[in-house]
Amino acid sequence: MEKVDKKSHDELLEIMATLEQHYLDMCDIEFTVELGKLWMLQTRVGKRTPEAAFRIAVHMVDEGLIDMDEALRRVNGEQLANLMFPRFDTSAAKDLLAVGMNASPGAAVGKAVFDWATAVEWAEQGEDVILVRKETTPEDLHGMMVARGVLTSRGGKTSHAAVVARGMGRTCVCGAEALDVDTREGEFTVRGGKTIREGDVISIDGSTGEVFHGEVPVVPSFVVRHFEGEDVDQPLVRAVARLMEHADSKRRLRVRTNADTAEDAARARRFGAQGIGLCRTEHMFLGERRQLVENLIVAEGEEGVDAALGELLPLQRQDFPEIFEAMDGLPVTIRLIDPPLHEFLPDLTDLSVAMAVADIHGHRKKRQRKLLAAVQRLHESNPMLGLRGVRLGIVIPGLFTMQARAILEAAAERIRNGGRAEPEIMIPLVASVRELDSVKGRIEQIASEVEAELGVTIPHKIGTMIELPRAAMTAGEIAGSAEFFSFGTNDLTQMTWGFSRDDVEASFFSTYLEQGVFPVSPFESLDVDGVGALVRKAATDGREANPDLHLGVCGEHGGDPRSIHFFDEVGLDYVSCSPFRVPVARLEAGRATLPAR
Ligand code: PEP
Ligand code: MG
Repeated sequence: MEKVDKKSHDELLEIMATLEQHYLDMCDIEFTVELGKLWMLQTRVGKRTPEAAFRIAVHMVDEGLIDMDEALRRVNGEQLANLMFPRFDTSAAKDLLAVGMNASPGAAVGKAVFDWATAVEWAEQGEDVILVRKETTPEDLHGMMVARGVLTSRGGKTSHAAVVARGMGRTCVCGAEALDVDTREGEFTVRGGKTIREGDVISIDGSTGEVFHGEVPVVPSFVVRHFEGEDVDQPLVRAVARLMEHADSKRRLRVRTNADTAEDAARARRFGAQGIGLCRTEHMFLGERRQLVENLIVAEGEEGVDAALGELLPLQRQDFPEIFEAMDGLPVTIRLIDPPLHEFLPDLTDLSVAMAVADIHGHRKKRQRKLLAAVQRLHESNPMLGLRGVRLGIVIPGLFTMQARAILEAAAERIRNGGRAEPEIMIPLVASVRELDSVKGRIEQIASEVEAELGVTIPHKIGTMIELPRAAMTAGEIAGSAEFFSFGTNDLTQMTWGFSRDDVEASFFSTYLEQGVFPVSPFESLDVDGVGALVRKAATDGREANPDLHLGVCGEHGGDPRSIHFFDEVGLDYVSCSPFRVPVARLEAGRATLPAR
């Protein structure tokens, strides 16, 4: 342009500089030059990719246009989360088939399958599959769970496929309308082009909505490599590092992680976690240890129960040293067993069938009979509302005290060996202060015993989750007996809305979203008006009754950008989220402190 029409070119550059000075942002412009006269048609703040958002923000700081606070305002956790997914190698040759909607981020490669049953069958054989449907329904759930990604030709970001895939962290491209999907024939045709048949490999990019034929190579995220501690000298990484540093310098909220293994704990610490906010202990009762839980259930008399618990104790003790080591010097909140007991026992139908077969062959065993009776006794129509959490701790008191002893002994051992351990023992599903008092007294007694036996003082706390509406409403009373509260917003959402958390997203949430009942799933982003009101009340009443009360959140919302701003506003001390969301939470916690503009 400079060569063709220098005058208009210079004028354009001048106007562009004026616009950038005025808007202090990257703008897109439309202009025309007619008979040597430059006409500006339109301008607006330009859209940008997540990578561009981070890079432009720090460029503008370096050019003296904005300060670091403003730069931090211009990026967000969702963009950062996007940058943390592996992506397709930009330098690889690609065969683009179509572009749909970027419904759930990530880069997925696999063989196209057109029904959930094939997806499950092939995945069981070790194949990577992409489930392709016109649109998904609750029937497709099993297929979606095993697939690397989901591709649909219909529906938007609130379609069933999009909502469910996001909920399970599965890559998804939806509404790729150029695809004519024929599930009966097991193929799709691209408008005016190729046919892809069942078993052909495709690659889908949930961040851009692109669908490719064949396998596109996937490369790890630069940003994740940087958080992992690798020295990655790259413009995006430098921009992210500067903005993260600024966010850390601003934030009031601390960020912890939800981690049940030493590996996750160590990764989260590399990502900046300042302790564990939720270590779920239930997986520690599965696998080979399941048999020991069965022994506990069928045990007769106090002696039998003690013997069964005695077998579990040393195993449970082994679960903690490495976690304490990974979080040396930082608090570790360990939540005592929560799910209904029957989840650790054989399936009722399987066991009944096995018993019937054994009967026919005349092999019925006494233990099996007892076990079946126990499984029948523990069977519940609504297990989420049944014998779980603190209720288990009251009905089988030895279970919680065994866990507390294992935690405290592991902590004492670490301290004796020169390390630092700060366990926080957390009681789940408390509704009434009496429930908490009943188990707390016994745990305190165990703590004194362990300290006396091992000759060390263990800095520990005992607290509770607030995940039932009644707990939130009576938080003032509960705070008198708790050293900390951690809001279990998954259950609190379930119990407040009366939504079964395992079912509703896949069954009718897409209809609710389309009809505008809520703009986003309340399991994804906190329902501030309802569930949030309970959190606010419990935080306020809890602190009023006990000014030293430490407050955190460990439901999924702890890593959700929008919810983090609310948790900052109500004055929680920390949020806790999965290791990969720790950087997102750090960034958003920093942004939450910036005055609104
Ligand atoms: C919760 O309910 O929010 C919680 C963190 O506990 P879980 O998800 O294990 O029920
Ligand atoms: Mg819970």
